[in-house]
Amino acid sequence: MDFARWNGGFAYGSVKPIIHRELGHSASGGLSKRVRHFIHRRFPRDSFVSGGNGSGNGNGSAPTGPNFEAERRAMVARQIRHRGIRSPRVIDAMETVPRHLFVPPEHTPAAYADSPLPIGEGQTISQPYMVAAMAEALSLEGPERLLEVGAGSGYQAAVLSRLAREVIAVETQPALADTSRERLARLGFANARVEQGDGSLGWPADAPYDAILVAAGAPAVPQPLVDQLAEGGRLVIPVGPADHQELVRVTKKEGKIIREALFACRFVPLIGSHGWPSPSAGSTET
Ligand code: SAH
Repeated sequence: MDFARWNGGFAYGSVKPIIHRELGHSASGGLSKRVRHFIHRRFPRDSFVSGGNGSGNGNGSAPTGPNFEAERRAMVARQIRHRGIRSPRVIDAMETVPRHLFVPPEHTPAAYADSPLPIGEGQTISQPYMVAAMAEALSLEGPERLLEVGAGSGYQAAVLSRLAREVIAVETQPALADTSRERLARLGFANARVEQGDGSLGWPADAPYDAILVAAGAPAVPQPLVDQLAEGGRLVIPVGPADHQELVRVTKKEGKIIREALFACRFVPLIGSHGWPSPSAGSTET
C-alpha cells in the first residue's frame, strides 16, 4: 500500500499556493532558545532505538549509526520551510521533537522521510509536513489548552506540547493510547497527556479548548467539537469522503462560526459516534 498517500498525504499540486496564501503568517518567535534548551537537556544526543548494530550514534565510537539530528534538520529545511511553513515556533518544534523515537523500530531509519509511516493497529503517524501545517493553521501562541483527537504515536501531541500550555490527546485504540501515554511521559513531555476514548465526542471534562486538532478524517465537523471550542478558539479537521478530504479550519468568534477550507489531504478515518461507523462489524479485525 502506498502509505505516502495516507494520513497526512496531500495533493502536491494544490497545497503549496494555498499554504502560502492562507498560512503565510508567522507568530513572532521568542520560544526558540527556551525550547532548544529544553530539548538539549532532555535529548543531549539523539539515541538510536531500533537495535541495528546496537551501537547507535551516541559516543563517537560508532561511525555507522544514523545521525538523526542531521536528518531532522534536513527534513525541516526540505519538507517544512521549503514548502512555505513560516511560523518560527512551529519550525522550532519540528526541529526539536525526536520523531524517530515515536515510530516502531523497523521504521526508525525512515523516521524523517517525507511520508506517513505505519504505527500498528492499522494506523499511521502523519507526514511531517502535515503535522507542521496543521499546527501552523492553529496559530498557537503559548497559553492555549489544546485538544488533539487521534493521539496515535503521540508525535503530534509532542510537537503541540511545545507550542501550547496543555495538550489533552484522545485516542480510541487502547493499545495506541497506552504506548503513546507511556512514551510522552518517558520522553518528558509533561504538559501532554493521553486519554482513551471516542474523541469525536471531544473530551468534555477539560472543555472549553482554545484549539482543537483532529488527526483523522471525518464525514462532517462533529458538533461536540464546535461546542467545546472557547471564544476565539480554532478547530482544524480533515473533512470529506473516506478517500480524500479537505483540511477545514473552524473559528468561533463572538458566538459566530467561521469555516475556511485550507487544502486537500488524505487521512485515516475518524471512527466514532460523530465520525465513521466502525468497520469491525463483519470485516477483518486483527
Ligand atoms: N496524530 C497521530 C497520528 C494520527 S493517526 C500521530 O502523531 O501519530 C489517526 C489516529 O486517530 C489513529 O491512531 C486512530 O486510532 C485515531 N482515531 C480514529 N478515530 C478516533 C476517535 N473517534 N477518537 C480518538 N481517536 C481516533
